[in-house]
Amino acid sequence: MSVLDLARADLRALAPYSSARMEAKAADVMLNANESPWPPSDDDGLALNRYPEPQPVLLAERLAELYGVRPGQVLVGRGSDEAIDLLVRGFCRPEIDAVAMCPPTFGMYAVCAGVQAAAIEKVPLTADFAVDEDALLARLPAATKVLFLCSPNNPTGGVVRLNQIDRIAAALAERSLVIVDEAYIEFADAPSASSLIDRHDNLGVLRTLSKAWALAGARVGTLLANEQVVNFLRRIMAPYPLPSPCVAAALAALDDEGQERMRRRVVMLRSERARVAEALLGLSGVRAVLRSQANFLAVEFDDAAGTYRRLLANGVVVRELAGYPGLADYLRISIGTPQENSRLIDVLRRRAEAA
Ligand SMILES: *Cc1c(COP(=O)(O)O)cnc(C)c1O
Repeated sequence: MSVLDLARADLRALAPYSSARMEAKAADVMLNANESPWPPSDDDGLALNRYPEPQPVLLAERLAELYGVRPGQVLVGRGSDEAIDLLVRGFCRPEIDAVAMCPPTFGMYAVCAGVQAAAIEKVPLTADFAVDEDALLARLPAATKVLFLCSPNNPTGGVVRLNQIDRIAAALAERSLVIVDEAYIEFADAPSASSLIDRHDNLGVLRTLSKAWALAGARVGTLLANEQVVNFLRRIMAPYPLPSPCVAAALAALDDEGQERMRRRVVMLRSERARVAEALLGLSGVRAVLRSQANFLAVEFDDAAGTYRRLLANGVVVRELAGYPGLADYLRISIGTPQENSRLIDVLRRRAEAA
């Protein structure tokens, strides 16, 4: 059996759009794509009059090297959000198949399932916010085609261990894709699951340049998966997903100096994460701070809604989690610069002293 037997048969049979840039890459005289022969202005160094590469080769190679996989196992898109959407659309028949997830978790999995009219199967995290492996394997219905595991999990910050992922992927072989969303893995002590994708053709890993790489505005995300899955999703993807300026920004961020800068910032962020967690734990009104492997903290307050409003009135915006199961009294607080974090702590401390 091929992993593509899990994909929608109608899409496997669909003839993909063949763009000009796919059919012919470059020549001296380019008259095949109805582009403007002139760049928008004389000093444009990016050749913005030309369509970009459907999959930017150099960027895909850099990312493959960075993530420790082969270039053919890399699908680059508009943020990992695009890959989430493509996976659900490519593998789930509306009204028939299901997407599984472990709430409280990232909201996009359920949104993409809803847009596709796929069923949503929820296997909640345990009371201490860990993936409940046995419940997961016992409960997933046969209709499940895509299981999303978020590690570190947004918004609780815990990781799924590699041996758990290994076991889940093996148990769901020939049944479902297992997609590990590692948007925050750079901030974690845990290794990436990308080392397992050669062992399981149903395993995929989502990585992004939006968080640790500081490029949320450029929208560059990656799915690492079996070559067959990557090639299938390329066929249903928009022909030119990545704007040239975004590719250029990503390549610049990934050069030697960029990598060094990113590593320094991650070190700083992790130490700030520890400092903020400790400061918060010392404040009255704070009940708990979940141990986080990401660049945010989920914090339980006596009065989360009031704390949220008070922070906002003092110019600090954090994320309310009242809509997430089990997190009614929690706020999610991103780790900022040391100055920003100190301001957050000051606002909360003044309040604690006044109370
Ligand atoms: C931020 C986030 C993403 C989105 O990443 P993009 O690459 O910006 O689309 C994906 N997954 C999780 C869990 C996130 O928190």
